[in-house]
Amino acid sequence: MTNHPRIIPNLLVTGTPGVGKSSISRLLSERTNFTWREVSKLAEEHNCLDEYDPEYQCPFLNEDKLLDVMEGMMAKGGNIVDYHGCEFFPERWFDGVFVIRTNNTVLYDRLTARGYTGKKLQDNIQCEIFETLLEEAQSSYKPEIVQELQNDTEEQLQKNIDTIIEWIERWKENNL
Ligand code: ADP
Ligand code: MN
Repeated sequence: MTNHPRIIPNLLVTGTPGVGKSSISRLLSERTNFTWREVSKLAEEHNCLDEYDPEYQCPFLNEDKLLDVMEGMMAKGGNIVDYHGCEFFPERWFDGVFVIRTNNTVLYDRLTARGYTGKKLQDNIQCEIFETLLEEAQSSYKPEIVQELQNDTEEQLQKNIDTIIEWIERWKENNL
């Protein structure tokens, strides 16, 4: 396979469940010509989910199968990949990695509203407190392409969209 350089970037939007990855990705896809790739939905649509994990109350992801499905989509750029994990994606796929962050008490309320309780709720709050996804992103991608965005309020949500759009414009200028 030949490697043509991308003329529009691929973005990864990652972070703990509930931080606002899908809200940001959807708004971004509405304001750009980029395609929102909600990995959990893609995995479901393409039968990349294996049996149910009783401890984490979610199905196991067949990562190899998912990567095969996504490879063709990623080639041309213009993707916003939305997932609460990032270490299993090929490093070469992404030009910008955005780690969305949310204050603990705000996140607690969002996850409770989503119906999370008990261990699942606690694990996700801990995941945010321990900066698990930030560390995963920093150890999987070059530090200069990883950016944290705080997303507690509606105002920050709008600001984050503007920040990412400005980032895309700058990337395009630098990669003409
Ligand atoms: P994720 O995709 O990371 O799980 P969602 O985008 O589904 O997160 O957001 C979780 C909940 O938080 C949704 O109800 C969404 O409307 C709300 N939300 C997301 N971002 C913000 C924000 N910046 N301010 C207020 N509410 C938000
Ligand atoms: Mn989501």
